[in-house]
Amino acid sequence: MEKKPFFSKAQIEEIVKTYPTPFHIYDEKGLRANAAAVKEAFAWNKGYKEFFAVKAEPNPFIMKLLKEYGVGSDCSSLTELMLAEKCGITGNDIMFSSNDTPVEDFEYAAKVGATINLDDFSHIAFLEKVLGKLPERLSLRYNPGGIVTISNGIMDNPGDAKYGMTKAQLFEAYKILKDKGVKEFGMHAFLVSNTVTNDYYPVLAKQLFELAVEIKNETGVSLNFINLSGGVGIAYKPEQTPNDIKVIGEGVHKVYDEILVPAGLGDVEIYTEMGRFMTGPYGMLVTKVIHEKKIYKDYIGVDACAVNLMRPAMYGAYHHITVLGKEDAPCDHKYDVTGSLCENNDKFAIDRMLPEIEIGDYIAIHDTGAHGFAMGYNYNGKLKSAELLLKEDGSVQLIRRKEEPKDYFSTLDCFPEFEGLTK
Ligand SMILES: *Cc1c(COP(=O)(O)O)cnc(C)c1O
Repeated sequence: MEKKPFFSKAQIEEIVKTYPTPFHIYDEKGLRANAAAVKEAFAWNKGYKEFFAVKAEPNPFIMKLLKEYGVGSDCSSLTELMLAEKCGITGNDIMFSSNDTPVEDFEYAAKVGATINLDDFSHIAFLEKVLGKLPERLSLRYNPGGIVTISNGIMDNPGDAKYGMTKAQLFEAYKILKDKGVKEFGMHAFLVSNTVTNDYYPVLAKQLFELAVEIKNETGVSLNFINLSGGVGIAYKPEQTPNDIKVIGEGVHKVYDEILVPAGLGDVEIYTEMGRFMTGPYGMLVTKVIHEKKIYKDYIGVDACAVNLMRPAMYGAYHHITVLGKEDAPCDHKYDVTGSLCENNDKFAIDRMLPEIEIGDYIAIHDTGAHGFAMGYNYNGKLKSAELLLKEDGSVQLIRRKEEPKDYFSTLDCFPEFEGLTK
């Protein structure tokens, strides 16, 4: 599929007069259409709910926008819980799917009434100790181990993943929860990340639905909800075919009718915790070319760096690049597109064929709406960028200001000589 930015060069030239590069910009129209499509795809299930994985894009504007489509929050830390609470998302609208969880986080999750999803068998006793008594509603995270293979060779290795509990632990855990008076039960599993296939959720659902029937038969526990978690991917590369959420929803519906309904589990609520699929394609990092360097290779130096988008440096991830205003020019130049960190992996693209680039060009880096800004850090004293929203009416709204040196120095307020720099 051809990858095009959701803005023009002329729009960016106008925006930079107020908000200089680099910045992440989000597409309100795209976010809304996608949230509506997700809701529609699972409308067959009465209790369906998407809990947006806040870690993907922890911005209150976007969380509230998604809330309009019935979307809650999937949190995994104290501050993510606080963020959801400030957005008016509380109680059963929060799924708390954490791991290696600190005491304070469990306490806060209970305080806001979140549904707690326990990552480990030992957390039953831990949580009971922290809260004095187990909540009436609890979910358990399952890890089937081994290797999963979906279609077109996509696979992952849950046997190597730190998350969840084994099947034997899961069964034992449901028995214990039942004995301890828990009334509502959930099950959660996350097996593969960024799956670009419509088969992942249906394959996972089949496995979890069969397990739910086994759990009912062996422990007498009827699950209230099954959480398919995240992992629905996006087409980062132009040659990939994007997932079709309607087909995915229908695939889950089919196995639901085949497995859960005949087993008397036809009122199980289906939950999802998508992050990447909800916001990924609707964000872009816009950066300006400030240098060109020719040594053994040709380097284009931009004013963004890996602190604004870590995925290429961290995972070697591909992010498509458009040179604004040169959309139709031939890609006959080979470049490494780099940031300014003193780290050789600070490259947004390596050996990428692009149109001839000049200093002053604006570059749009695609698909940064999830796990983009959110993974930012402050290495080399670099400051995080602003986040902007391109609204449906074409206007631009600041949804997070850029960091200033005072933000970077604010935690050094224990030193008197930094006083003037921290405010
Ligand atoms: C990261 C995460 C998600 C979201 O994953 P995506 O790949 O962005 O969909 C959902 N649930 C949990 C528990 C996670 O850790």
